[in-house]
Amino acid sequence: MAAQDSVEHKYVYDFAEGNKDLKDLLGGKGANLAEMTNLGLPVPPGFTITTEACKAYLATGREPDGLAAQIEAHLESLEREMGRKLGDPQDPLLVSVRSGAKFSMPGMMETVLNVGLNDRSVVGLSAQAGGNDRFAWDSYRRLIQMFGKTVCEVPGEEFEHALDDAKRAKGTENDLDLDADDLRGLVDAYKKIFVKHTGREFPQEPREQLDLAIRAVFESWNAERAVVYRRQERIPADLGTAVNVVAMVFGNLGADSGTGVAFTRDPASGAQGIYGDYLANAQGEDVVAGIRNTVPLQELEQLDKKSYDELLDYMARLEEHYKDLCDIEFTIERGKLWMLQTRVGKRTAAAAFVIAGQLVDEGLIDLDEALHRVNGAQLAQLMFPRFQLDHEFQPVAKGIGASPGAASGKVVFTSARAVELAAEGESVILVRRETNPDDLNGMIAAKGILTSRGGKTSHAAVVARGMGKTCVSGADELDVNVPAKRFTVAGQTVNEGDVVSIDGTTGKVYLGEVPVMPSEVVQYFEGSLEPEHVDNALVRAVHRIMTHADATRRLAVRTNADTGEDAARARRFGAEGIGLCRTEHMFLGDRRELVERLILARTDDERESALAALLPLQRADFVDIFRAMDGLPVTVRLIDPPLHEFLPPLEQLAVNVAVAQERGEDVAKEEALLAAVRRMHEENPMLGLRGVRLGLVIPGLFAMQVRAIAEAAVAVTRDGAVAKPEIMVPLVGAVQELETVRAEAEKIIAEVVGDSGVEVLIGTMIEVPRAALTAGQIAEAAQFFSFGTNDLTQMGWGFSRDDVEGAFFWRYLELGIFGISPFESIDREGVGRLVRIAAEEGRAARPGLKLGVCGEHGGDPDSVHFFHEVGLDYVSCSPFRVPVARLEAGRAAITTTGSDSR
Ligand code: ADP
Ligand code: MG
Ligand code: MG
Repeated sequence: MAAQDSVEHKYVYDFAEGNKDLKDLLGGKGANLAEMTNLGLPVPPGFTITTEACKAYLATGREPDGLAAQIEAHLESLEREMGRKLGDPQDPLLVSVRSGAKFSMPGMMETVLNVGLNDRSVVGLSAQAGGNDRFAWDSYRRLIQMFGKTVCEVPGEEFEHALDDAKRAKGTENDLDLDADDLRGLVDAYKKIFVKHTGREFPQEPREQLDLAIRAVFESWNAERAVVYRRQERIPADLGTAVNVVAMVFGNLGADSGTGVAFTRDPASGAQGIYGDYLANAQGEDVVAGIRNTVPLQELEQLDKKSYDELLDYMARLEEHYKDLCDIEFTIERGKLWMLQTRVGKRTAAAAFVIAGQLVDEGLIDLDEALHRVNGAQLAQLMFPRFQLDHEFQPVAKGIGASPGAASGKVVFTSARAVELAAEGESVILVRRETNPDDLNGMIAAKGILTSRGGKTSHAAVVARGMGKTCVSGADELDVNVPAKRFTVAGQTVNEGDVVSIDGTTGKVYLGEVPVMPSEVVQYFEGSLEPEHVDNALVRAVHRIMTHADATRRLAVRTNADTGEDAARARRFGAEGIGLCRTEHMFLGDRRELVERLILARTDDERESALAALLPLQRADFVDIFRAMDGLPVTVRLIDPPLHEFLPPLEQLAVNVAVAQERGEDVAKEEALLAAVRRMHEENPMLGLRGVRLGLVIPGLFAMQVRAIAEAAVAVTRDGAVAKPEIMVPLVGAVQELETVRAEAEKIIAEVVGDSGVEVLIGTMIEVPRAALTAGQIAEAAQFFSFGTNDLTQMGWGFSRDDVEGAFFWRYLELGIFGISPFESIDREGVGRLVRIAAEEGRAARPGLKLGVCGEHGGDPDSVHFFHEVGLDYVSCSPFRVPVARLEAGRAAITTTGSDSR
């Protein structure tokens, strides 16, 4: 950095100079301290060193020019304001040095309190506190402990052991029983620990303490656990952290002092009321550390009515100001209340909806803002069944909620055993240290997956999410012993066959079977809970926000459904049609026989008779679906998978033939099938004879399906319902393919439909990159496009989903090659670009061309926003994701920038 611009660069802000919108520069903590200061709340004075300074330090390994002087200037003005000098032997000013990044990263960065204490100022501090030696030495030992641990990497346990020793020597468990002499002794012990680990004396110079602490905060940005946390939470790595230097106020001065945390509403349920904890005669970190038992915040009213009333007043003001749930840290020093932190508080999914609804009622926010404050991931969480937890069940461990849901089952330790027990009808939970591709079958067989290692991007987590299976990863309290088929946790041993329950949302692990209760939100969507009559704040809030989302969104939401039953369910969830009805299941079960006949047909007659037998069966399927979707469009995809998928596997046929021959039975049919399977074998079935290619190769196949669709539509219409079929041709890469299919289909449709009034559209999937790139031509022959983003992702990237998710995606995620699996959320730059090109060029060739998406991305929140931006008409997703898509489509319509909330 050039010298002259560093002189102008402002690296340090007084609290009075900042505000809550400067989070990028001042971090969340600093920006909010500034905001409270400007609101006139009692915040101890201090200043914030910017994230810019941190970034400059991390880039060059030294403090940027000008920083030291600016810190000096702000420290001097702080000293003037406080009327004390940092570390002054007679009357020391003490400060805390607190990290604070843009996004709160709990436990990632550390704070050092009581900076400025040394062998001399500890005496002055005591004198100023009216000869309170105990307080002064308690503060000093805390400084050495925190400074040692966070600034100099002295193992924290060493200090804790020394503290325990001191308590033991005193015959007490309570740190309050330690008197000034005990604490003075503890300071000596701490200093020895410090020397042992750092090779130097504990620094006595106050300004050196301050500078080292600031530097340590900068460096903590790149500490390993901070890096891992950011990767998991997808927080950009280059934000840096700010550093706040705050004049100390003391909650450990005696019974009239204390410290606490508070929430303006219940962060678990969203209910209004007073939630928080208070601890008398303590410094801030004691509350979280659980050194002593806190009391509920309400009890402060008895202890110190004045501070209590004041706190409630500030809480109300903060909530009114931030128009949201706030969480707060405060300290009371001899009856004087100080506010030390506030932020918009984290909350559960249920609380997010409830609070947004309440704030609308209170007139603090409008419905658009309420919609902005909730999201599809939260709604999805609320739609999973939950554990019914009463006090009987205490978690024995907590890992990372890697894939949501609630699952109970017998513990197994190997993939093979999981498969075995599942085949016997047992629910199993596969427990591993970590999983690898060999565990795939076991993961498929299991109800849930529990690992003791790995985060949100571990193999277990990635694969489980891909399969929609409950998973808790990284439960590191578990000691898993696979060869011995057991794990130990919290002093208990769990053997193969014992039952455990895992919550993939909270990451909690329970022993035994925790009963599961259905989601009220799903009951509401299914129509069995009427929001107006329900005394359930959550259901009412969901109803209200969903209604607004529906009124706001431009995208329609359809569903993927293959049966009348699925269609009806999705309709209750709000689906406005079917975006993808797959016809392949109509070739399964007892219909396989007919498919075999079709495949083995040697003459036109044989083939036609097989097709003729399939026709009425398919027609009946379509009738069901059209009825369920009366009045709404139904996109039917003509048969897509390669036909050999309907035949038994090669090995099985070979065995059948051998066994039958042995017995002297007639093997003609088996042999013919075996020959067909051999003949039809493909090296890359994904890229082989499937989709439109099949329709062009096997005469009469598509024609039969088209006829079944048209006949079903006419039949339903005669019964007084409205059928709106849309025939979708899969895997088209060239307009000529579509033209050929369409010409034949139109003839059949004209013949069947006659003057019944039924209208049948013909369109295509866009799922082959070539189709996207020639969309202008294809649009000439297509009445609609539906993006098949699963195949478009496979073919765009050139990898097969079934193989890659287990094989290497975890590694790609770990390396940051993807932030998220491109099957989970659309790859905007690559695959998304294909969608954009096809949408633009398709519409240019045929204005008003109807555009939709039917891949699984249709139910993914971020992808929904993308499809909104690209201008599609609808998304289609599995029935269960329909509400999520409705909500996100609404959010997409009110935001142009995408949400920044974390
Ligand atoms: P975290 O981000 O982990 O909460 P903080 O920087 O908020 O870390 O500080 C840790 C604890 O120390 C909190 O309880 C906080 O209220 C308390 N604390 C921080 N600064 C001061 C101060 N100047 N005076 C008194 N207590 C403080
Ligand atoms: Mg804090
Ligand atoms: Mg496809």
